[in-house]
Amino acid sequence: MFDTLSDRLSGIFTKLRGKGRLTDADIDATAREIRLALLEADVALPVVKAFIASLKERARGAEVSQALNPAQQIIKIVHEELINILGGEGRRLQFAKQPPTVIMLAGLQGSGKTTLAGKLSRWLKGQGHQPLLVACDLQRPNAVNQLQVLAGRAGVDVYAPQPGNGVGDPVQVARDSIEHARRTAKDIVIVDTAGRLGIDAEMMQQARDIRAAVDPDEVIFVIDAMVGQDAVSTAEAFRDGVGITGVVLSKLDGDARGGAALSVRHVTGEPILFASTGEKLEDFDVFHPDRMASRILG
Ligand code: GDP
Repeated sequence: MFDTLSDRLSGIFTKLRGKGRLTDADIDATAREIRLALLEADVALPVVKAFIASLKERARGAEVSQALNPAQQIIKIVHEELINILGGEGRRLQFAKQPPTVIMLAGLQGSGKTTLAGKLSRWLKGQGHQPLLVACDLQRPNAVNQLQVLAGRAGVDVYAPQPGNGVGDPVQVARDSIEHARRTAKDIVIVDTAGRLGIDAEMMQQARDIRAAVDPDEVIFVIDAMVGQDAVSTAEAFRDGVGITGVVLSKLDGDARGGAALSVRHVTGEPILFASTGEKLEDFDVFHPDRMASRILG
């Protein structure tokens, strides 16, 4: 991911090398090229506009240090603005004051929710927690089984509908899982929910109902970073339809242009908490805006 954007940016910076001082015209020309590079990487227009406005203002401002040459100054500003759109300092997962902490996962089918449930539970277990995975995706035929397999690998328990006991009602399963977590001394409940291939009123209603039933500490929207521009409108739909508190980027190992990853924080206003970089449970880490920005700059 980001290979094309990284190449484009490094080409732009190379042209600035050897320049003694940047005129306003140089800054405008550079800003135009960076604008194009971001648009071609599928970064959403409002994000590009905010990025470029800030870049121009800062490049023209007096903040430029004597110790850096013009190319270094622009690289420094681009680096800081990338960190900015990716969420600055970043935010860590919020835990409930009274366990269990409830984390609800939401997103389109195929975005990587079930995989994330496994990854997150493994990661949390590694931090000394006792997570419970809850199977509320009762739409996709294999989702419950997939969750059970992942839970087996992560070494955590699953709460799934019991035959004859609320089968097919994900809201009831979600509600009962909290009591089950208390009874079995689990301090974190991770609720996997159903997605569809596209936004759909029934799915949104179900997600809202599950949310109301479990009163989660975090509602994590899982976004497939391979999806491009569409991902941004999906993110907005989930923010407005369900309410989200954070985002996880999945499939960052893909070779897409990366615009979704760069846009989602700015567009939703919610922090990126984790990043997924593969199908294995360990292909997963806390998201660090500064590291991602450095990776993009190569
Ligand atoms: P869900 O429908 O949202 O629960 O999505 P799944 O968790 O079933 O994931 C859909 C597909 O994407 C599966 O084949 C996963 O193995 C794959 N997948 C999930 N996360 C990643 C990731 O970070 N990188 C890659 N390459 N594949 C992933």
